[in-house]
Amino acid sequence: MLKFDNRFVQSLPGDANASNHPRQVHGALWSRVVPTPVAAPRLLAYSPEVASMLGLSEAQMRSADMVAALSGTGVLAGMHTYATAYGGHQFGNWAGQLGDGRAILLGEAVTSNGRFELQLKGAGRTPFSRGADGRAVLRSSIREFLCSEAMHHLGVPTTRALSLVATGDDVERDMFYDGNAALEPGAIVCRVAPTFIRFGHFELLASRNDSALLRQLVDFTITHYFAEIAKAYADENERIVAWFADVCVRTAKLVAEWMRAGFVHGVMNTDNMSITGLTIDYGPYGWVDDFDPGWTPNTTDASGKRYAFGRQPGVAHWNLARLGDALATLGVDVASLRAALEKYESTYGVAINRVYSEKFGLYQWQDAEGDVMDAAFSMLMESEIDMTIFFRALAAAEDVDAIKDAFYLDGQWQPARDKWAAWFVRYRALIAEQNPSPTQLAARVKRMNAANPKYVLRNYLAQQAIDAAHGGDYSKIDELLDVMRKPYVDQPGREAFAMKRPDWARTKAGCSMLSCSS
Ligand code: AMP
Ligand code: MG
Repeated sequence: MLKFDNRFVQSLPGDANASNHPRQVHGALWSRVVPTPVAAPRLLAYSPEVASMLGLSEAQMRSADMVAALSGTGVLAGMHTYATAYGGHQFGNWAGQLGDGRAILLGEAVTSNGRFELQLKGAGRTPFSRGADGRAVLRSSIREFLCSEAMHHLGVPTTRALSLVATGDDVERDMFYDGNAALEPGAIVCRVAPTFIRFGHFELLASRNDSALLRQLVDFTITHYFAEIAKAYADENERIVAWFADVCVRTAKLVAEWMRAGFVHGVMNTDNMSITGLTIDYGPYGWVDDFDPGWTPNTTDASGKRYAFGRQPGVAHWNLARLGDALATLGVDVASLRAALEKYESTYGVAINRVYSEKFGLYQWQDAEGDVMDAAFSMLMESEIDMTIFFRALAAAEDVDAIKDAFYLDGQWQPARDKWAAWFVRYRALIAEQNPSPTQLAARVKRMNAANPKYVLRNYLAQQAIDAAHGGDYSKIDELLDVMRKPYVDQPGREAFAMKRPDWARTKAGCSMLSCSS
């Protein structure tokens, strides 16, 4: 089956204490912890793409040994289970040690497609669980499972999800923190990524002035996940600066992709930032329906809106600055770190310009184009307009009425129509000027359709799959996964998955408001 190697535990110091009681873990990056078995593990869904990436057949995925391992109820030969220590800035404040409170690594699988760490989310308590139970509920596990794979198919860097397992145990959650705790079915997702190292791993060691261990982790990270940089720089300071610049570049590209797809992470704390530039930790994330830069799905962030859609680029920059602060404690030249951080802004600037030129199907970032796009942005913000439908409609639009369907409120369409019609004339003129031949026009449509998904994991769609699963019907999970497999291709018969959010979902929990309680 799987072959494991586990470089993280072999190369980096671990905690001698093998119990899972909550504590501060010093001088170590990981603690040995065994998942807590569950009552009745049942494989609800798995990703065939991730399984085949790992070299696992359907029969292997469904075997009793595998289901036991994916539910934390058994281990496969070669697995070494552990939880890691990290800290983080939460909502702008240093929060101290956080760590894998409900994530347990199973080990690093060595496959013909590379090395991948497997990690269970919701497999029981660890030394980092603080007062909590180490478990995850079915609703949030379905959301993480589906979104990881949907993001991958959209082409957005992300951790993957191998499996979704029901535990058969109930978990108590107070979804809206209002004193109404209830029992919910528990579940476990097995996440897969080359590494789960976060900004917060470095920050925790820096906060404790543990320079020796911080240096060791930096060295481990660069050696294994940034091999080009390890080779190119002999001098340690130069190497660290070049690596930090690369993290800035990857993060910039990642956030530009979120903005392209209309994805709002919801909790961009530094402990939820992957060092390799992947989307990580799917919690109260959401997809913008109405194009509103001020929208956040996270009810915990409703007043501050720190992590709202349009704020993500700025927050990523702030988070990178905290990573830079941590690296500065190693004596790395601060001016060089600052210069590296500027790579974030320059890379993001280029990436987002490209994103919008692709989304609008315009070719150069010239003045006339900027004006047309700016005009569209301000009109998009004046009315409730569905981002996904709007951009998808632009590719084939012959006249302004093609975007009518993107409007949420009829009452807003009528008064806005004339302004949009005038805009459309300018837009069409630019397109005609830039694409004098039918071949060019066709290429433009292709390019746009590759940047503007038809299908995204709208919050209400995931909620429908969750509601069905709570009623015992798990088929909607596979169906949704299948739709999200080809997000850029029109799928006849599946128009319902490309519709704007229905009115009943406007204020329903799980559809527009997501809780951190998961
Ligand atoms: P998050 O907001 O999901 O990124 O989690 C922040 C911190 O809380 C991390 O250290 C998590 O491991 C921990 N955490 C969240 N939920 C639980 C839970 N149910 N049990 C234990 N730890 C948790
Ligand atoms: Mg987290």
